[in-house]
Amino acid sequence: MSTAEPVFSNFIRSIIDEDMANGKWAGRVATRFPPEPNGYLHIGHAKSICLNFGLANEYGGTCNLRFDDTNPSKEDVEYVDSIMDTVRWLGFDWQDRLYYASDYFEKLYQYAEALIQKGLAYVDDSTPEEIRAARGTLTEPGQHSPYRGRPTQENLDLFRRMRAGEFPDGSRVLRAKIDMASPNINLRDPTIYRIKHVHHHRTGDQWCIYPMYDYTHCISDALEGITHSICTLEFEDHRPLYDWCLDQLPVPCHPQQIEFARLNLEYTLMSKRKLLLLVQEGHVAGWDDPRMPTLVGLRRRGYTPGAIRAFCERIGVAKRDSLIPMELLEKAVRDDLNLTARRVMAVLDPIKVVIDNYPEGQVEHFEAPYFPDDPPAMGNRPVPFGRELYIEREDFMEEPPKKFWRLAPGREVRLRWAYFVTCTHVVKDDQGRITEVHCTYDPATKGGDAPDGRKVKGTIHWVSAAQSLLATVRLYDRLFTHANPAADKEHDWRQLINPESLKTLTWARLEPSLASAQPGEMFQFERKGFFCADLEEHAAGKPVFNRTVTLRDTWQKIVAADKGK
Ligand code: ATP
Ligand code: MG
Repeated sequence: MSTAEPVFSNFIRSIIDEDMANGKWAGRVATRFPPEPNGYLHIGHAKSICLNFGLANEYGGTCNLRFDDTNPSKEDVEYVDSIMDTVRWLGFDWQDRLYYASDYFEKLYQYAEALIQKGLAYVDDSTPEEIRAARGTLTEPGQHSPYRGRPTQENLDLFRRMRAGEFPDGSRVLRAKIDMASPNINLRDPTIYRIKHVHHHRTGDQWCIYPMYDYTHCISDALEGITHSICTLEFEDHRPLYDWCLDQLPVPCHPQQIEFARLNLEYTLMSKRKLLLLVQEGHVAGWDDPRMPTLVGLRRRGYTPGAIRAFCERIGVAKRDSLIPMELLEKAVRDDLNLTARRVMAVLDPIKVVIDNYPEGQVEHFEAPYFPDDPPAMGNRPVPFGRELYIEREDFMEEPPKKFWRLAPGREVRLRWAYFVTCTHVVKDDQGRITEVHCTYDPATKGGDAPDGRKVKGTIHWVSAAQSLLATVRLYDRLFTHANPAADKEHDWRQLINPESLKTLTWARLEPSLASAQPGEMFQFERKGFFCADLEEHAAGKPVFNRTVTLRDTWQKIVAADKGK
């Protein structure tokens, strides 16, 4: 995969460069992306995907996709399928290297027996509460479990019977015997196996004991010959356990765990648990609701894989947590769509314009370029013009303030690609609402230029009333009203959901060339933003478009204006 983005150095690249120079892994770079199939991937995962697959591509290495499926009660094949789709959609390929931690259950079990044989693991009959109570605190050491001194043979026998299903859930665990006085709580005899009589989406009812994440992860990495095991910062304190397990066991290699700061994005959440609640409680329409930070949501919104990859490269990787402004992501989306999205005309909030001196029943077509700044780029389309048109309601003002250059009584403006028109009068309904704006046009200005050289200050977009398509258009705002909803301690995060995050317009009007738009196709509606034909609901005869992003960064201005109040 090629990318036009410049490649910035970062501390992980420095580590790999050094390993390459020292021949540490004989020139090999092997990474993995290890999602737990308990939810849909979000933009934070994209950072990890771009990093792991990106580094592998850059150094001529490999990146595995590995499902970390050790917690069967929360996992589902629905998530497995979606994760694979999404990684491919982002532009990455694991080729034949698709793995599941559950593939290693037998090996993991054998390694656990090996730990027992070495006197480094024991079966503990304490209740979960007793284990928790004896763990100690950050300032006090933990207490030895009464079962810590159990003879090896007894441990082996009990562990085998745990596997055989003789004991109920929660009655016993297998713990690594490390150091109850360690200042690192993760080393205070961590649980490595628990009893769970639950069905697993891949291994079925074969197992009723399941290995813990920390124990599974390091061994899975080693079995796959991973060289650089890249994870997020919260695992920094788990690294000594990662290394301990690999040091004690006869595994094929000892990968290096490297931690980086996770991505946090303003005005949204990255917690899979809360994203699930957003869906389950109906705050959004589903995992792929275009307001969601999930990759299926962003995709449906119209965000492109290229834009997301560029964003991930631009934010870089660091060792310190930060909150990234949404504008950075939106900028990447605009930059990408600007090069590829055809320009067309659509009126989101229409008001009718009648051109009184234009012959009734006459239709003429203007050839308008899809890329006005580079007309040959993608050709033209015909845009029909007639006596009755629609323009944006906000492009007309009966009593315009200074510096309003658009249409107003007595004012002449250019209708994009067509003619100069001058407003003569308006027609109102009983409530005084304007229903029609009447104009005259100057036939000499055909194509949008006056032969006498006279200028107009405003150019507005329009569609033909008779030929335009009625469409549903959805406009989005931030999903939360708080920049960091996860950090607000005073409110439940639900109270911070933006009640105006979705605005649905059911009366928008599109130029007729959009009749052939396919689901997922992107356009720029001139002056209104980039829009995407909805992947699920858009159909011929029933157009549905989502606004992907506005043309400029209007949000920044709104925030600035609010602050100025
Ligand atoms: P959970 O809370 O269920 O553990 P998770 O977000 O860690 O969720 P995983 O499926 O375990 O989800 O994540 C897969 C990989 O993606 C992990 O290596 C994790 O470190 C990485 N990852 C998850 N969230 C982010 C994030 N916000 N930024 C960068 N990487 C992330
Ligand atoms: Mg995780």
